[in-house]
Amino acid sequence: MRMLRAEEQIHIIDNKVTVEEIIKDIVRTNVISDPFYIFDIGDLVNKAITWQQILPRVKPFYAVKCNDNSLVLEILAAFGTNFDCASKAEIKKVLDLGVNPSRIIFANPAKMASHIKYAMSKCVDLTTFDNELELYKIKSLHPSCNLVIRIRCDATEAQCPLGIKFGCDPLTQAPSLLALAHDLGLSVVGVSFHVGSGCNEPTAFQRAIAASAGIFKLARELGFMNMYLLNIGGGFPGNKNTSLDEVANIVNDALNEWFPPNNGVTIIAEPGRYFVASAFTLSTQIHSIKKQSNDENHIMYFINDGVYGSFNNILYDHSVVVPKSLYDYSRSRPICEGSIWGPTCDGLDKVVDFVNMPLLEINDWITFENMGAYTISAASTFNGFPLTKVFAVANQTIYNKLKNLMPISEDHFTTVPIVATIKMIQSKSIEDDV
Ligand code: PLP
Repeated sequence: MRMLRAEEQIHIIDNKVTVEEIIKDIVRTNVISDPFYIFDIGDLVNKAITWQQILPRVKPFYAVKCNDNSLVLEILAAFGTNFDCASKAEIKKVLDLGVNPSRIIFANPAKMASHIKYAMSKCVDLTTFDNELELYKIKSLHPSCNLVIRIRCDATEAQCPLGIKFGCDPLTQAPSLLALAHDLGLSVVGVSFHVGSGCNEPTAFQRAIAASAGIFKLARELGFMNMYLLNIGGGFPGNKNTSLDEVANIVNDALNEWFPPNNGVTIIAEPGRYFVASAFTLSTQIHSIKKQSNDENHIMYFINDGVYGSFNNILYDHSVVVPKSLYDYSRSRPICEGSIWGPTCDGLDKVVDFVNMPLLEINDWITFENMGAYTISAASTFNGFPLTKVFAVANQTIYNKLKNLMPISEDHFTTVPIVATIKMIQSKSIEDDV
C-alpha cells in the first residue's frame, strides 16, 4: 500500500474544536515558522450537500483549476461531483483518482492539439468550442467528440470577467459556427456559458439561460437532434457569509421557464470557488517589521507568504484579502496603521495596502479566511520560498459521513495530532537537507 504524504492525511478532530483553535494549538508549540493552510473538510462537504439540496437539477462539474488539491478532488468525487478540466494535466489528475472519463468535461474552448489527442486516448469525449478553427482541430483529432458551443453572456459586474476571451456571440457568431459543425459532420450536443467568475449580477444567469434556449432551437433546426446538455458554467459565490440561495432561486426559475423538467435536457454547471473558497484558512507569520521610508507612522509587516505564493489571487483573481491577527491585542497594544508585504524582493509583493490594527510584533501570526479559490493552484516558488503546506481536518461527524463513502479510503484518516505531523515533516526535511 502507498504511504500517504502528510498533506493527503485528514486529521480527525473533536466536534467542538474550531479552525482558529487548531491554528492556535499549532503556533503555540512553535513547531512551525512557515505559512500553512488549514483545510476544513467539513466546509467542503457541507457545500456539496447544500448544492444537491438547493440546485437539485444541476449536476456540478467542479472546475479543477480553482484548487487542484488532491483531497478536494477525492472528496468531491466521492460525493458524485464530476469535473471540469482545462488541460491534459488536469484530466490526468482526475483520471488518476479512478474517476471515469465520462465524468469529465474538457471545458476549454481553445485547446492545444496534443491535449485533444490525449483526451481522445483517454475517452474524454465531451468538450466546448467557440470558434471555427477549433472545429477543424476537433474534426481531425477527435471527430467523435461530443461538442458544447460556448456562448458569451457576461454579468455586468464580476470579479473576473471571462467574456473578453471566451464565448461566441449568440446572435452573430453561433449560427455560422453551428452550420460549420454540421457541415463537418460533428456532433453538437449542447450549449454552455460562463457569466464571469465571482459574478455580482445573479440575474445574468437568467439572461444566459434564455439565450441558451434560443441556441438549442437553432441547433435543432440545423439538424442536431441530440441536443441534451445545458452547461451553466461557474460564477457562484464561495466565501464565508455568502449564500448560494439568491443565485439558486434565479437559476431554478429560469430553468423551469426555458428548460422545464422532463424536457430531456441534462443541466450541468462548473462551480469552482463555490466549493473551496471558504474551506481554506491561511496562517502567516511576521518575520520582519519596518517603518515606511516616507512615513514613520506607517508600519510595514513582512509575512512569509506573498503574491508569488498563496496571495497570487490578489493579482490573478482580483481578490481583496482580509487580515486578522490570530490573537486579539486590542486591549494591550496601540492601534497603528500599516501594510502587509510578502517575503520576496519584488515591490509588487504587497498583500494588504492598508490596515489599522493593534501593533504587531515579529513572530506574531496573521490569518486569512476564504483562501481556497485560485490560490494554491497558481502559486509559485519564486525567490526560493516553498509552496505553502495544507493540513486537512475533519471532525467526528464529518469523518463518520465520509468513511461510509467510497472511494474515500480509511487510510486518509488519522488521529495523530497535526502538531505531531508537522514535527514529522520538519524532521524529514532536516534529514533531506543533510
Ligand atoms: N468553468 C470555466 C470554463 C472557467 O474558466 C472557470 C473559471 O475561470 C470556471 C468554470 C470556474 O468558475 P468559478 O470559480 O467562478 O465557479
